[in-house]
Amino acid sequence: MNRKNPNTDSFENLSQQAIVALLQSSGAERTALFEQSAQIKEKYVGNKVYLRGLIEMSNTCAKDCFYCGIRKSNKKVTRYDLKDEEILAAARYAYESRYGSIVIQSGELSSKRNTERIEGLLKQIREQSEGGLRVTLSCGEQSLSCYERWRKAGADRYLLRIETSNPELYLKLHPHNQNHRFERRLEALEALRVAGYQVGTGVMIGLPFQTLEDLAYDLRWMQQLEIDMVGMGPYLEHPDTPLYPYRNQLLPLADRFDLSLKMIAILRILMKDINIAASTAMQSIDKLGREKAIKVGANVFMPNITPGIYRDFYRLYENKPCTDESAEDCSNCIEVRMALTGHSIAYDEWGDSAHYQSKKINK
Ligand code: SAH
Ligand code: SF4
Repeated sequence: MNRKNPNTDSFENLSQQAIVALLQSSGAERTALFEQSAQIKEKYVGNKVYLRGLIEMSNTCAKDCFYCGIRKSNKKVTRYDLKDEEILAAARYAYESRYGSIVIQSGELSSKRNTERIEGLLKQIREQSEGGLRVTLSCGEQSLSCYERWRKAGADRYLLRIETSNPELYLKLHPHNQNHRFERRLEALEALRVAGYQVGTGVMIGLPFQTLEDLAYDLRWMQQLEIDMVGMGPYLEHPDTPLYPYRNQLLPLADRFDLSLKMIAILRILMKDINIAASTAMQSIDKLGREKAIKVGANVFMPNITPGIYRDFYRLYENKPCTDESAEDCSNCIEVRMALTGHSIAYDEWGDSAHYQSKKINK
């Protein structure tokens, strides 16, 4: 893995201690952090926002992560699986709406049938948009050969959050079995690199048992790994999960939100030219959460284009926003939302990670 960073700004060497101090900042210090990150963002990636139409393909999952509302053992969930035609129609909608890019996300399923199905869908999406859409997958841990097949069939980017870079904390958030190993997640991230993807990862912020030191380390870990894109946001409790009893230990929602904004701002300072998503979870806490994330450093917005009737069933956490909207409602709303942030929307642009491109040039 190439670990050389082409940027040379003193800020990229923030120590663990300095990051913790920034995470704790308030008043003028906090304002200065956000001003700095906004300036760096404008200089390196510009005040424009890339769109990725988000298609939540299925809420069926073979895993049992303790934080997630659609975990396998939650029997209260009505499971769904979008039909191929629905996925293709959503991709067409994104293309015609000039989004430039889509994300296909789902619970984790690893089977020959699933590999072949996604491979077939990717080829059809490429065909129907004549290669005009970039596709990101977020379908969990798979084998290198599966990742390679999907890459060849048309996926360019892959999002696999590490959730936390602290292996001990990871153990507390997952069942202790072969399917949920921290090392396996790391190996999957490495396999994605080998397969040639633009690799995205991220963490949840404000998890039970998580410290500011953990979060500071998460940022340095992402920097060391030379990650191309990041999606991170607040942890939000879900009543039908094993972590729910720990909800009294959590930071208040407003603090979790503020911490998430600071994480985005510091990451932008550390990794100037990567793509950072304004996560949907930010909007669950604050109606203008995603706009605020964009102002302090995020540059990717993911409008949900899953057919409206399914949205209510993809509930990873409580109070997920926009579950009662259609894709068209969402499109109208983006224009207004982005105007509020003083950013323009990069229609028809793929919005590849500038970081990924500069790494290729520097190799
Ligand atoms: N199954 C895939 C992709 C879908 S889950 C995977 O796990 O990689 C996508 C992300 O949702 C997870 O990576 C996790 O970070 C986030 N998520 C799950 N439960 C959450 C919760 N309770 N609060 C906030 N984010 C959550
Ligand atoms: Fe499944 Fe992803 Fe939820 Fe874990 S976080 S239970 S892998 S959908």
